[in-house]
Amino acid sequence: MRTQVIIIGGGPSGLLLSQLLNRAGVATVVLERQSRDYVLQRIRAGVLERGTVQLLHDAGAGARMAAEGHPHHGCYLTQDQHLFRVDFTERCGHAVMVYGQTEVTRDLYDAQDAIGATHIHGVQNVTLHDLKTTAPSVTFEKDGMQHRINADFVAGCDGFHGVSRASIPEGDRCEYEKVYPFGWLGVLSRTPPVMDELVYANHPRGFALASMRNETLSRYYIQVPLTNRVEDWSDDAFWAELRARLPQEVAERLITGPSIEKSIAPLRSFVSEPMRWGQLFLCGDAAHIVPPTGAKGLNLAASDVKYLSDGLIAHYAGDDSGIDGYSDRALRRVWKAMRFSWSVTTMMHRFPDQSPYDQRMQQVELDMLATSTAARQVFAENYTGHDF
Ligand SMILES: Cc1cc2nc3c(=O)[nH]c(=O)nc-3n(C[C@H](O)[C@H](O)[C@H](O)COP(=O)(O)OP(=O)(O)OC[C@H]3O[C@@H](n4cnc5c(N)ncnc54)[C@H](O)[C@@H]3O)c2cc1C
Repeated sequence: MRTQVIIIGGGPSGLLLSQLLNRAGVATVVLERQSRDYVLQRIRAGVLERGTVQLLHDAGAGARMAAEGHPHHGCYLTQDQHLFRVDFTERCGHAVMVYGQTEVTRDLYDAQDAIGATHIHGVQNVTLHDLKTTAPSVTFEKDGMQHRINADFVAGCDGFHGVSRASIPEGDRCEYEKVYPFGWLGVLSRTPPVMDELVYANHPRGFALASMRNETLSRYYIQVPLTNRVEDWSDDAFWAELRARLPQEVAERLITGPSIEKSIAPLRSFVSEPMRWGQLFLCGDAAHIVPPTGAKGLNLAASDVKYLSDGLIAHYAGDDSGIDGYSDRALRRVWKAMRFSWSVTTMMHRFPDQSPYDQRMQQVELDMLATSTAARQVFAENYTGHDF
């Protein structure tokens, strides 16, 4: 079998890349380890930057998001009992869209079906070959049979634990990593959100986030030690802890209900450079991870895909400048989002070794946001996302 671009991973990066390339006449095959149903059940991101929203429209996958998504023009931050709002639109003229990653993935699969794109699910032992030549290939097993696909390029869209990044020799990649000493316990519940916009809470008991997917579906998180397991947290214990970390005026409005999903995610910052090696390009979580505090992971995946799809489409029209500049261009944006995610994580969480001095620094950072329009402008520009 032969195609132009083999895409490893059928998450948001892989699907969006396949969609943009196919619409421009570039042939792809998407190889996904899991079943489609499994991919569609993963509960993850929910905040889309304006650039991601535009790219989904450009890909022909934005109609349902436009109808059902919720534009948010600001968010709330709290310091113990003190609540204040950052108005994104007032400060930088932009907003974000609250629309679940599960819905984005579903819309992309539907759009891919409509144009007849090729996906192979349930692949095993995916192995990349001859990436430093102009004739790379990928082998894999499916239903006990061995297969090979030859291509011009391979796009590694297979997430943090995928095989693509690991196919680059260790000596040829430079990795930067920061592991945070806590995780987020997340609960999805069929209850109305506690506020009309997201609430980021810094409390002596630890961080909390009140988030949502729509008017009847809420997503809440609390910071927990890495040693905690999901089984340690009953629904009642979760709601009591969340309530304790929100300002009283917010906690009093909280409507609770049974959790329909509960999971713990560790927090990590990670970048692997470069994002190109021979004919292999890394996209999204395969190349970088951010702690979810800044809501940047899915949005960085989208900007990578934008740069790579533009570069590959230009390549087939005779211009290689886009693919040659891909890694540098993507990494410039990645590092800005890394800084923002790290700074919000540092400002909002309680660290096990936090000194009284560190706590004062958090307080003054939050005071600056509450009182300085310049600080709110910087926050708003970063939260709604830099151009791509
Ligand atoms: C709790 C949580 C909250 C988050 N909140 C936000 C948010 O609000 N905003 C935001 O922007 N981001 C958020 N993120 C991050 C966001 O979910 C990810 O950045 C995004 O999923 C990255 O997409 P991806 O396609 O690059 O990788 P993935 O979604 O990981 O997809 C990779 C795909 O590759 C497949 N795969 C892996 N290995 C192989 C293999 N060997 N062969 C074939 N296929 C393979 C996987 O099955 C998967 O389907 C959050 C993440 C978490 C965990």
